[in-house]
This record gives sequence, structure tokens and C-alpha cells, in this order.
Amino acid sequence: MAATSRIEINKAALIHNLTFLQSYLGEQVKISSVVKANAYGHGIEQFIPIAEEAGVQHFSVFSGDEAHRVYQIKQPTSDIMVMGWMSDDDLEWAVRSGVEFFVFEQEKLETALDYARQYNTRAIIHLEVETGMNRTGFSQQALHKVVKLITSNEQYFRVRGLCTHYAGAESIANHVRVQKQIKKYNRIYKWITNRGIHPELRHTACSAAAIAYPRTRMDMVRIGILQYGFWPSPETFIHFVHKRMEKSDVLKRVLSWKSQVMSIKKVKPGEFVSYGTYYMAQEEKTIAIVPVGYSHGYSRSLSNQGRVLIDGHRVPVIGIVNMNMLVADVTQVPDVKKGDEVVLIGDQDGVSITLASFADFNNQLNYELLARLPLDIPRAIMNQ
Ligand SMILES: *Cc1c(COP(=O)(O)O)cnc(C)c1O
Repeated sequence: MAATSRIEINKAALIHNLTFLQSYLGEQVKISSVVKANAYGHGIEQFIPIAEEAGVQHFSVFSGDEAHRVYQIKQPTSDIMVMGWMSDDDLEWAVRSGVEFFVFEQEKLETALDYARQYNTRAIIHLEVETGMNRTGFSQQALHKVVKLITSNEQYFRVRGLCTHYAGAESIANHVRVQKQIKKYNRIYKWITNRGIHPELRHTACSAAAIAYPRTRMDMVRIGILQYGFWPSPETFIHFVHKRMEKSDVLKRVLSWKSQVMSIKKVKPGEFVSYGTYYMAQEEKTIAIVPVGYSHGYSRSLSNQGRVLIDGHRVPVIGIVNMNMLVADVTQVPDVKKGDEVVLIGDQDGVSITLASFADFNNQLNYELLARLPLDIPRAIMNQ
């Protein structure tokens, strides 16, 4: 049994990125490594041990199921933080197991208190506050009740953090909104400490904020995309290199995605390739069929747009990306044959396909393409 494609994780690149980020952000800033969406497609089970080897001791996930997976593989000394959804069962498990979680509703806080009492332990919570994103988080109004509940049940809570999330720190278009959020967060922090709650970690920054707004770094940053070697947006990268002597990219891509040529054929001039009329051969073409389609996470929006590497050539994806296949134009590739390696993301003979090369088509494609890489594509760690 063999999958139609495989993902390779470059261990040295990942360690390089994490080491660089820690030194860039400063040793006093704790990094929480964000591994939601299967570590942005890299594979939680493959990613966590390498990150720990690089010194990471804190991991953030979105949901309870992801937290369970991290819990299975992590070292006992590493912490887990759930930033989003948990069922009551998950919440019970989290309280019992010392897994940290965001609290953004009174009801969740009360349920956590019940479990903490039941297990005679402390729920380790991060109070998420609303500062302008308008997604999750306590309004300042709602915090009155929160403060009351926590201060009257001190033995059942450890307030590990006070946190918020910015509404688009990767784009200058949101500059004013982000500035307002920072101010509001700082006001709430002061307000809450004045009422006797002293969160251990102030944390607000994702990758983009940590780069573009240094004062958002505070005690801890929640870094996702950067550790995998991608920039949240071209703007964030420009902001980063602006003040540096060295203008090249310091981050290294960690993930490669590879398949192989499944079939080759000739197409006559004037013929359409694949479904519909999206691509017509202007002259005689040689095409290679690759067994990867949108069901495998290769976005349909890359129809007639994507590029893949075959035999060291960067060749276009032509026609519509199908559910299980895509077609590449290999007319210019001499001696191409069935079984030749196809690189969808990564390097081959000194040529590379970066996700950033897709970014022109869709700014969010980095995140989306990675996050959609299916769980069942095998991941292998490369040690070179
Ligand atoms: C996903 C996420 C992050 C990390 O975002 P990146 O842009 O990948 O660094 C940080 N905080 C929260 C709340 C998130 O959901």
C-alpha cells in the first residue's frame, strides 16, 4: 500500500527557525509553539519532539482533540494550551491533567471550577479578553463576575495568562485597530491586577504581531506560521528586513510535498485538457498526470495557476485541478517518464516551489494550503 504523495519534514530547518526566533525575540520572551491544524499540516507527532529538542516547552492548539494528540507525544515538562473549543469531557480531562485553556465565557469558568473542586486541583486558565477582534473573549463588563468568581475560589484556579488576539496584525490596513487593541489590553491588565488577579503570562502576539509590533511580545508569544518557515504576509516580511543589514530570508522551509508522475501522454493542438475548456493546447503538448488533487489538499484555485517541479524543471499546472489528479505541462522536459519525482512544495535540483509563489493569487493560501494537507498523507522526518 502506498499513498499518492508524501510529506517530508526537514529537522535541521525546523531547529534553525526555532533557534532563530528565540534569539530574535529575546530569551525573556517565552514561545508558545502553535501546532493547531496538525501543526499546520506538518504533523503533530513529527513536529513536537523536534520542537522540544530546540527548547520549546509550551504548545498551543485549537481544540481538545488536538490537545490529546499533543499530550500523547510531548515530554512531561512541556505545557499545552487549548485556545478554542473543548467539550465538557475535554474540559474535565484538561483540568485533571493540568492542560491549560482559554476561558472566554462565564459558563466555561464555572464548569472548570466544578471539575477543579471534584479533583481537588487548580484549573490552569488563560483569561481571554475582548479588545476589538469581536470573536471570543470577555468584555470588560463581563470581567466583573469573572474576577469575583476567581477571587472567591482562589484555591481552585491558577491564572496562568491574560490574553487577546489581534484582528489582522499582518496587514498595515489594520494598524489603527491593532493599536487600539494593544491599548485596551493594557488597560484591562491594569484593571484586573488592581482587583487582585495577577496573571503569570501576558500574551497577545501571533507571528505577525510579534514581528510588526514589538511591544505586543510581552511575556509570551504564540508563534505559528513563522516556525514553519513562512511569513504571515509579504508586509510582515518587509517590516522584518527593513531594519536589517541582511535582506535575505532567514527562515527555512520545513515541509516538502512530493508525488510522482503517474502517466504521460501527448495532446494535439486545439484539444482541451481535463474538464471543460479551461485549457487548450496551442501546439502539440506532452502532459504528465500527477495523482494529487483537491481531495489531497492541492487547492482547486491553483487550476491553470500552480507550478510543480519535474526533473529539475518548474512546469505549469494546466486545466482544472481534479479531485484526485492534476495535469502538468511537461512539453519542455526531455526524457520525462512515469515514476519521476514531482515536487509540489519544496526543492529539486536547485529549483524550488515555495508556497509564497502562490501567495500572489491568494494571500491566505500559505495557511490554508498547509492546514488542509490531509492527516493521512505519510510524514517522514529527514535528518540531513
Ligand atoms: C493561530 C493562532 C495564532 C498563531 O498565528 P500565526 O499567524 O500562525 O503565528 C496565535 N494566536 C491564536 C489565538 C491563534 O488562533
